[in-house]
Amino acid sequence: MNKKLWDECVTFHGHECPGLAIGYRAAEIAKEQLGDIFSPEFDEEVVCVSENDACGVDAVQWITGCTIGKGNLIYKPSGKMAFSFFIRETGQGIRLVMKPNAFDDNISREELQKYILEAPAEEVFWVKKPNYKIPQRARLFKSVICENCGEASPEYKMRLVDGKRVCIDCFDDYERGW
Ligand SMILES: [Zn+2]
Ligand SMILES: [Zn+2]
Repeated sequence: MNKKLWDECVTFHGHECPGLAIGYRAAEIAKEQLGDIFSPEFDEEVVCVSENDACGVDAVQWITGCTIGKGNLIYKPSGKMAFSFFIRETGQGIRLVMKPNAFDDNISREELQKYILEAPAEEVFWVKKPNYKIPQRARLFKSVICENCGEASPEYKMRLVDGKRVCIDCFDDYERGW
């Protein structure tokens, strides 16, 4: 492993932990498979989809340069320990999913972290094809003022209540199970 890069991830995240190791390893495997294509200057050339919002995403952001702010890190909340990486120009993509029984439950956090960082890639992750399409490029939308709270939101986030245009926060969701 690249100790310097790992140390940088730890500094960025604030501590070292097995979760950070998962993201570190996923980003490293993506680099091996797709080529060292990541760059902090990239805008949307490379897109990462993280299926969790846990510690590992910080390593992914540091290593790949994909961030929420640039719109090339997208959070897809399934809660799975899975990350997809797409190259927009070529349409290539891979999805790395941590294997469910990758490790013995009784090992310490330190041992677990070391295992995630150092075990052969195929022991820790499944390397799959993404089971979703490459996300759309970020689009600009007109702002609409909520008729209840007066705050502005992009058009696609608005809802109607009694004929009034309201924001998500002012909308009482109506859901019946699916
Ligand atoms: Zn952590
Ligand atoms: Zn509102």
